[in-house]
This record gives sequence, structure tokens and C-alpha cells, in this order.
Amino acid sequence: MQEAQRLQKLPPYLFARIEKKIEECKARGVDLISLGIGDPDKPTPSLVIEELYKHALDPENHKYPTSAGMIEFRKAVADWYKKRFGVELDPKDQIVTLIGSKEGIAHISFCYVDSGDVNLVPDPGYPVYGIGTILAGGEPYLMELSEDNGFLPDFDAVPEEIARRAKLMFLNYPNNPTGAVADIEFFKKAVDFAKEYDIIICHDAAYSEIYFEDKKPPSILEVDGAMDVAIEFNSLSKPYNMTGWRIGWAAGCSKVIESLTRLKSNLDSGVFQAIQLAGAAALKEAEETVEEMRQIYKERRDLVVDSLNKIGWSIKKPEATFYVWAPVPEGYTSESFAEYILEKAAVVLTPGNGYGKHGEGYFRIALTVEKDKLEEAMERIRKAL
Ligand SMILES: *Cc1c(COP(=O)(O)O)cnc(C)c1O
Repeated sequence: MQEAQRLQKLPPYLFARIEKKIEECKARGVDLISLGIGDPDKPTPSLVIEELYKHALDPENHKYPTSAGMIEFRKAVADWYKKRFGVELDPKDQIVTLIGSKEGIAHISFCYVDSGDVNLVPDPGYPVYGIGTILAGGEPYLMELSEDNGFLPDFDAVPEEIARRAKLMFLNYPNNPTGAVADIEFFKKAVDFAKEYDIIICHDAAYSEIYFEDKKPPSILEVDGAMDVAIEFNSLSKPYNMTGWRIGWAAGCSKVIESLTRLKSNLDSGVFQAIQLAGAAALKEAEETVEEMRQIYKERRDLVVDSLNKIGWSIKKPEATFYVWAPVPEGYTSESFAEYILEKAAVVLTPGNGYGKHGEGYFRIALTVEKDKLEEAMERIRKAL
């Protein structure tokens, strides 16, 4: 059996080695604390579950949904955008429901990328941007996110010839894995750059609601003219503890939304309607849970950053996301440090190189475990060093 080139071309799974070690530790009965996976540990708000139950009983919802998504859900997204960002969206042609935002992020390249085309992809970054690009036959051009630049890409560093060939540019703020936030000035620059080179911006805003400062992270769609060149992905997964439900959306430029909807109509049949209606209820009524989650993550963030800073680090508190991104100590690589901490402290960290070559020299901690566990993990790391 010969696998297709497109599958063979995918980069090797960088967590394979550390995952093997984790399995070995578990088999030995080691009591591991995993700070590896960014998956909310708290349950979905009960009002959302009740809504799902109610709508699951209705036979109307047992049929095929449409791939664009129910107008009720898309209208709830539009109302949420208006309230949260002051951005007006037409639910009919500027919003599409997704089976989780990952689905749309992976598929958007199939709409615009032909063999040999280039997408601009942040590095370190969420792996799906580059993988979607490769699966569609394109080539990712890596835009380095460095600490000196506040983990924002420098558009002037993209060679002219690459910018001319580029079809899509992926951005992600608040950022996974670095925790960085972008302000509206940065988004203005991105829109100007995209207009100059005829590039479509795909902004991944999965962490827009996980913030800890009074100044809330903006939407790129707030920028004048963004609606001509940008779409924004978002999702119920992170703010409402709904990663398992698989529901998100893309919003913005109607031409791009139409292309993605048309592609999807040939691939999938949409999201179970009861989930879409429960998702609409989350957007309308579950803001209180999101506020509680922000408080919880903020306490956890403070605990982790303060603990690390007491034992030799000097990192700033991330203003958003539920991640702490920190440099490994002298003499280690991302991988050797993660392995050392696994062996000596039985704590799982994510090695930064798993998010791209510019993530080398860092590790990521996910704040999605209870505070007492985090406290113990920090104590174990202190003892191991
Ligand atoms: C979690 C995450 C997503 C996607 O989540 P879905 O559950 O597919 O909506 C997208 N982007 C980033 C950066 C993420 O961390």
C-alpha cells in the first residue's frame, strides 16, 4: 500500500517521543501530573446541556442539518459579535457554522490553495495552519514569532516574492502557545499588508474570551476594510468548556465564507441541530460561566508564574489564553527539558518545538488542571531542579 504524497509530506508528529515516555511512566504506575493538553477541565454549563436535551427530543432535529448551519445559530453569533466587538455581520452570508473551528481552519486552504501556492503561517503556532496548507498542495512560509517582537510577525520580513505568491495568511491572537495578545494597531497593519498583496487573512480567535486584563482582545473585523480581506474563526470550545461538542464558526468576508460553505457542502452535512441550538443558548446566556472561568484561569496563571519566578525564571504573566510559555533553563533543549521533568518530577510539559522550529528553547504549561494539582506540580519541578 503506497500512501499519497500529501500524507507522506506531513511533518513527523513531534510529540511521539514524549508520548512514548508518558506511556512508559504510566505502565510503571507513576503518578503523573499532566500540564500538556489545553482542554478545559470544568464541565459545560448546565443550561447548555439542558438546552441540548430539550432539542434532542425534537424529531425535526434528527434530520440532516445544512452545511452552512442553522440561521438561529448564525444569528446568535451575529448578535454576540455586535455586543462583544460592535461589529455588524449578516448571518446569512457572513457567517458559517463549523464542526469545531479546527475543521474550518484545515479546510480553508482547499478553497484557495493550488499546488505550489504559499500560505503565511506563524511559527510557533497551532499545527493545523501548516498541515491544512500541505494537504491542499501548498507550501507554508513560516513567519517567526519572537519574544523581541511580542510574538507578533514582522510583515516587512516576508520577502516580496513570497508575499506576491501568498494566498492565505494565518494569524492567532490571543496566541496559542505563546499567550501573546495583539492590539487593533497590529490588525490594521495586517489588513494593509493583505490588501497590498491580495492575501486573505484567516484570523483564529479561539481564545478571544480567555483574557485577564480590563482591555479585552479585539476582533480583526473591527478594522475598517477588514471585511474585504479577512475571516475570523472562533469556537465555543474554550470559553464554554465545550471541546467535545464540536461547534464553531467562521465570520467575515462574504466571498470567502461562500467558498468555505460551498466546499463544506461537498464534504460534510453540518452540525447536529440540537448542538447548534444549545450553542446559540451558550452565546446568549452563559456569559457568567465565562467570567468564572477567567477568574479560575487567572488564579492558576498567577500561581504558576509566581512559582516559576521564585525558582529562577523571570517571565511576564500572559494577558490571555490558558497557557504559560516559558524558556527552558540553560543547557537544555525543549525536548530534553520536557523529558527531564517527566523523569524527575513526573510532570508532563509540552516541548515548544512541537509548535514549530521557532518554538525550540521553550515549553508550554496548560492551566487546565485544578489549583492543588498545579501547586504540587510546581513543587515537584522546584525539587527536580
Ligand atoms: C483549541 C484551538 C482551536 C480549535 O478548537 P475547536 O475545538 O476545533 O473549535 C483553534 N485554534 C487554536 C489555536 C486552538 O488552541
